[in-house]
Amino acid sequence: MEKKQFQAESKRLLEMMINSIYTQKEIFLRELISNASDAIDKIYYKALTDSQLVFDNDSYFIKVIADKDNRTLTIRDTGIGMTEEELENNLGVIAKSGSLAFKKEHESKDGHDLIGQFGVGFYSAFMVADVVTVISRALGSDTAYRWESTGTEGYSIEPCEKADIGTEIILKIKENTEEESYDEFLEQYRLKSLIKKYSDFIRYPIKMDMAGKRPKEDSDTEFEDYQEEQTVNSMVPIWRKNKNELTAEDYENFYAEKHYGFDKPIKHIHLSVEGAVTYQAVLFIPEKIPFNYYSKEYEKGLELYSNGVLIMNRCADLLPDHFSFVKGMVDSDSLSLNISREMLQHDRQLKLIAKNIAGKIKSHLQSLLKDDREKYEQFFESFGKQLKFGVYSDFGGRKESLQDLLMFHSSKEKQLVTLEEYVSRMPEEQKYIYYATGESIERIEKLPQTEIVTDKGYELLYFTDDIDEFAIKSLMNYQEKQFKNVSSGDLGIETEADQTEQDAEENKELLAYMKDKLAGKVSDVRASKRLKKHPVCLSTDGDVTIEMEKILSAMPN
Ligand code: ADP
Ligand code: MG
Repeated sequence: MEKKQFQAESKRLLEMMINSIYTQKEIFLRELISNASDAIDKIYYKALTDSQLVFDNDSYFIKVIADKDNRTLTIRDTGIGMTEEELENNLGVIAKSGSLAFKKEHESKDGHDLIGQFGVGFYSAFMVADVVTVISRALGSDTAYRWESTGTEGYSIEPCEKADIGTEIILKIKENTEEESYDEFLEQYRLKSLIKKYSDFIRYPIKMDMAGKRPKEDSDTEFEDYQEEQTVNSMVPIWRKNKNELTAEDYENFYAEKHYGFDKPIKHIHLSVEGAVTYQAVLFIPEKIPFNYYSKEYEKGLELYSNGVLIMNRCADLLPDHFSFVKGMVDSDSLSLNISREMLQHDRQLKLIAKNIAGKIKSHLQSLLKDDREKYEQFFESFGKQLKFGVYSDFGGRKESLQDLLMFHSSKEKQLVTLEEYVSRMPEEQKYIYYATGESIERIEKLPQTEIVTDKGYELLYFTDDIDEFAIKSLMNYQEKQFKNVSSGDLGIETEADQTEQDAEENKELLAYMKDKLAGKVSDVRASKRLKKHPVCLSTDGDVTIEMEKILSAMPN
């Protein structure tokens, strides 16, 4: 029989996974059940759009079978199955999922548990099994194939018999070792509780043959063993459930099961909207920045379901760019199922849903800011930059809607403040919202230009992100207060004008001499009252400040 090697990357990941001290081996079951459910989804979806195919609810299910004597655990589904080629491509290559790139990125940070938080799908089976056998027959095919692997050693594929369409995954469960116990994955009650914990919302029945004892008929004293097929999961997807019945852990499990992120979400938003648009959504704000977030590779989007059926993995149109960090899913009955990607873009319903969702995200962020400042700041540290980009690249009134979500470092409390907070404590005579830009807070504090503002007792915003100044320039003003860079010529702070004039008069020659020496570098040299401890500073008159000039000239043309 032909023995094939895993691709190099898959092999490395496998080794990493198997060798890591793994605390959450149990998630393999979630992974295999979710694959089974995906496979049934595919056939269900086909049936909806293909009149040749009939989907009757009774024939589609997942079955979990534990066999203690043979130490096997089988996960069987009646899904779409895999052809020989698909077995090869889908189970032999892991790199496509990006898991490895991710792992590399985070390897050094916090060690082992990462894999568990981040789904690695099918491969997780090797955490609990010495041998994994996949027997599959694809829809429309008469031949079935058996794929088998011991993990790192590679795999084999050969034709075999299988009566029905679908897939059967057989795990040869590892023997217990001194440190690790695997027996639990052959225990019915343990398996049942794992299914409840991780896969309760799966839309198709997950069945198990549950054994028990019951009183014999016509007898109160004698008992008999019996076995009965039970559906273990409630089958109600989480988004159709009542919020009040769900715990934070339920949402966290859903987040992990859906592979939305490797972290725990900072906040979940469960929406059930009826009216002009009708939809349900479960959205998450991640805690940590996805490894490729601020890069071109990152793709925003939400999963899109139509009446419970997944029709698109990542629907970008559902999220505005400034909320591209949001993860989650939307289910709506008002969308047509066999809608194409191109049609979706023009779908009025979808546009309405997207608009509605954006509004909800915004108001949830606002209440987070109000009710849980610490969490909001944590969120802002991760994704604030994206909001500022949103304000900057504004077309169509978005800046107003985002401005109250912005935070900046400030001279007042040495912490992040909102524009609203800044303005609310401005003394009456203060005309502008003052800010200074620089690489870091320490650098800004050393700027000579800041003195006059802080000496006056005015609060100063510290702009340390390149985008900060661009964003507020685009905002223009906040509550009718204009923004003012401390390095601009006219700060709007009263100085003894006469004296400045007098100084200028007295130092006429010196100023003229300096101007001459600096010709071409500065446009003017003036006497100023704005300096206290420092002898000289640069200032600008126009709209583009020195820092913006620096950034603009560093940009590729
Ligand atoms: P993912 O589910 O994220 O795509 P997995 O590693 O879990 O990654 O699975 C890899 C692929 O193998 C799936 O995308 C699917 O094409 C295929 N697959 C896995 N299990 C099944 C199954 N039970 N039935 C049909 N296809 C499957
Ligand atoms: Mg999977």
